[in-house]
Amino acid sequence: MSNKADVTIIGAGVIGLAIAAQLAKQSREVYVLEKNQGFGLETSSRQSGVIHAGIYYPQGSLKAKLCVAGNRILYDLCQQYDIGHKRTGKLIIATNDEESEKLEAWLERGRENGAEDLKLLSRREMNELEPNVAGVTAMLSPSSGIIDSYGLMQYFIAKAGEGEAQIAYQTRVVGIEKADEGYEVIVEDSGGRSSFITKTLVNSAGLYSDRVAEMAGIDIGRAGYRLHYCKGDYFSLRRRQDTRVNRLIYPVPPSDIVGVGIHITFDLEGRVRLGPDTEYVNSLDYAIDPRQQKLFYDSVRRLLPAIEYEDLAPEMAGIRPKLQEPGGEIRDFVIKDEADKGLPGFINLIGIESPGLTAAPAIAEYVAGLVEKRL
Ligand SMILES: Cc1cc2nc3c(=O)[nH]c(=O)nc-3n(C[C@H](O)[C@H](O)[C@H](O)COP(=O)(O)OP(=O)(O)OC[C@H]3O[C@@H](n4cnc5c(N)ncnc54)[C@H](O)[C@@H]3O)c2cc1C
Repeated sequence: MSNKADVTIIGAGVIGLAIAAQLAKQSREVYVLEKNQGFGLETSSRQSGVIHAGIYYPQGSLKAKLCVAGNRILYDLCQQYDIGHKRTGKLIIATNDEESEKLEAWLERGRENGAEDLKLLSRREMNELEPNVAGVTAMLSPSSGIIDSYGLMQYFIAKAGEGEAQIAYQTRVVGIEKADEGYEVIVEDSGGRSSFITKTLVNSAGLYSDRVAEMAGIDIGRAGYRLHYCKGDYFSLRRRQDTRVNRLIYPVPPSDIVGVGIHITFDLEGRVRLGPDTEYVNSLDYAIDPRQQKLFYDSVRRLLPAIEYEDLAPEMAGIRPKLQEPGGEIRDFVIKDEADKGLPGFINLIGIESPGLTAAPAIAEYVAGLVEKRL
């Protein structure tokens, strides 16, 4: 590493890597700093792998806009560069009349957001597509799908490498100081502590992004940047013919939309997973409480009546970096150049929870636009 960079990105999750790939296209000298020994070892590998359509998010929000845009870019990238994916489609299933009404409201929301292909299905139409599910009506989202998120990150790394991007692993950012020509970034790696100057600095540190913002001198309480950890457990589901589904199966989401409800997904190898649930936690502990099995079973049995309690087994957990407080209002992604806080060229990405994976390439374009204004 030389002691000067155009752009430094903190975090080699899917977001940091997507930004590095985008900036490398623009011939910028880019450093990506990652405290772990490899890429994508945190939230980017502890998620559902779903390409979302953009149904759930408030109209005009970054979440809505970047999800809808990201959905289209992702499918194009996957086709062009042979990244594992499947346009499976998804059903959101209403199990009673009250949920049916809510489903219509979600359909409107989705269409306003630009997910134009959504369609309401009768019970008969739903069961023609998915004979094993139960419900009274459903919404079909044909453009939802699944992606090999590891393959996507490998693609971003390859693209970043074609430009002038370098990734430094086991390199933890421990301090940020404003300098004449940008920022002094203080890092710790196997060689000890050192620092360098970067013209612009992108904070895509996931679960630690509020702390990184604090390092730069931002009062995260006042700015509304304090993260709340919200854990989501997953249980695997043993494969059986009478619980087989061909599309992603979701319940009607709760109105506080902390999560989108325990759903049924599968990966490209056909392994079926239930989850994630939502539980605000105080620490980054990924252990799964096996007692949750009953909650998962009860939730999913409403949609897939043939499942048996014994079909479930604890699998893994992820933790959402949420700006939304427990019981609080839904919050949008923060993606912002902090010039108004006296920190021009310091770009924060905070609260990049779902649909962050889907939105990643669109977030990268958006951030590249902010970076270019400063260089
Ligand atoms: C349970 C769950 C399910 C989800 N499902 C979906 C889904 O189906 N579809 C979808 O679109 N999205 C989904 N998401 C959201 C998606 O996973 C995230 O938005 C995305 O992975 C965030 O990526 P990231 O790069 O911001 O964060 P991360 O992957 O957490 O990467 C941040 C990186 O920053 C590094 N870092 C932190 N601090 C420092 C430091 N001081 N110095 C150096 N490095 C540092 C970390 O080590 C880490 O590698 C889900 C999220 C969760 C939790």
